[in-house]
Amino acid sequence: MKSIASSITETLKREGIDIDKQIEVDCVKCGEPAGSVAQGFQHSIHCQKCVDKYEHDRRIEDTKAWWTKFCPALYRETDLNHPDFKRIYPMVKRYDDYRQNLIFCGSSGTCKTRAMMHRMKLALIAGRSVDVLWADDLDEAIETRKQSQLRERLLSVGVLGIDDFLTSGSAFEHTTKFLKGILDIRIRDQKTTILTTNLKARDIEADSDKFGNSTKADQQRVQAIIRRLRGEFKTIDFDAGIGDGRF
Ligand SMILES: [Zn+2]
Repeated sequence: MKSIASSITETLKREGIDIDKQIEVDCVKCGEPAGSVAQGFQHSIHCQKCVDKYEHDRRIEDTKAWWTKFCPALYRETDLNHPDFKRIYPMVKRYDDYRQNLIFCGSSGTCKTRAMMHRMKLALIAGRSVDVLWADDLDEAIETRKQSQLRERLLSVGVLGIDDFLTSGSAFEHTTKFLKGILDIRIRDQKTTILTTNLKARDIEADSDKFGNSTKADQQRVQAIIRRLRGEFKTIDFDAGIGDGRF
């Protein structure tokens, strides 16, 4: 019995096409030499450069469409020449490795979130998957007990931004539990996280005992978070203008 492949080969041969014969072809798009292919396939050959360009253009288009949906309007366009941004961004840019975990620390209105979103955009263009945890999302997930869905979403991406770290309105204990879990797993999996916060470690410690009734477990969790942040993250202090600050 004849195989399907050999009967196709015979049919083509009857039509004057010998697919065992390799012929040199030019790219149908740009006309540059595109290597050799089996006879019969020469009409659809693109050179590697044209294939790469097509893939690249398509990725940019997909990225643009996704970003427009994903990024809040306020941060969608960043004026790279804005004085505040120009003052801050060189400190961020020093960390040109997208795997670097970063803390953008400073009072509100210092472009922290804008800088984070700009960094996310560059990571996205470089082909990483990105997501952002907004404080409202976390509050809502805690209120509706949907933490596990949110957790899954936040653990899956290559680069995660967490806006207003630990300033969520929800009960401190729930928030610290959730965020400690996210940080631990992302650090273990060597995935990048970028935080914005207007708190320093001492503020977080003070917050954790605001009502004087936090449990020992609470306090230990807060200490553990601070240790992770100090050990695994670089801090950029937006108030002091220090690119390698102390958290
Ligand atoms: Zn070409």
